[in-house]
Amino acid sequence: MQTSSSSSSKKRFIESSSFYTNCQEKDPFSKFKIDDCSFLESVPNRSTCSKCHRSRKYYCYTCYVAVQEISDRLPHVSLPIKIDIIKHPKEVDGKSTAAHAAVLASEDVTVYTYPNFPTYNYDEVLLIFPGESAIPFHEWWSSTVLSKRQNNFLKINPEQKSIHFDDADVEKPTKEVNCPLKRIIFIDSTWRQSKALHNDSRLKKLRSVFLDDHKSLFWRYYREKKETHLSTIEAIYYFIVELHNLLQPDVPYHGQYDNMLFFFKFMYYKIRTLYDPLKLKAYQNSTVLTK
Ligand SMILES: [Zn+2]
Repeated sequence: MQTSSSSSSKKRFIESSSFYTNCQEKDPFSKFKIDDCSFLESVPNRSTCSKCHRSRKYYCYTCYVAVQEISDRLPHVSLPIKIDIIKHPKEVDGKSTAAHAAVLASEDVTVYTYPNFPTYNYDEVLLIFPGESAIPFHEWWSSTVLSKRQNNFLKINPEQKSIHFDDADVEKPTKEVNCPLKRIIFIDSTWRQSKALHNDSRLKKLRSVFLDDHKSLFWRYYREKKETHLSTIEAIYYFIVELHNLLQPDVPYHGQYDNMLFFFKFMYYKIRTLYDPLKLKAYQNSTVLTK
């Protein structure tokens, strides 16, 4: 945590934030179909979590449930696959965006605190982590899922040496693809912590993949951060969209998972209002971005 830094290091913090890099863009979320979240502005005070009875504002980042005042009004997202998030014990709960996923897609997302997480079956899971042996997710999909599907097709139709999709007499495999994966694992921590966590033998032996580059809108500054270093909720969102497009290549994506960014968008504008990047108020009064 940075408490009394010089103005030049504050400047560096601000310029590394997505607020600065996106400050010319009026609404960086305009491309997403996210429900109106303005009612969150009128949530008066902190409430008590119905499970742990701690004081919380919108949701409990320990129990992953919304406070009663807003729970009926939140969007509920149903995902095409189960997701486990393993968070580093030192990751600050209240600041992590992993909770957004667990609250908004409560039936499909589970958060574990390292070192406590289930034993995974190698064939049924993928770890999203850009480790040494990781390959792009779409490449893994082509080499594993699609090639297996083609081999199965040739076993059923042995006279076919190869598949010619333009041959009208050949029975074509349907375009829709079954996903062989049961679960996707994300690590929720700073980049440095996640490297240490990835060295755990239970995670190291899993197959790991990484996502295509996407520009992050996350406001939190990390020393190691690049523009494409996504927050946990952004990584989950982009993964799900990528998976959707691979599972149903004929069905264009219509934004059905965009509400995963519901709290993320709300917090983005809330903090951006406080720290107007054009006026750089944060140079004088920096408390949120430097934590
Ligand atoms: Zn709670």
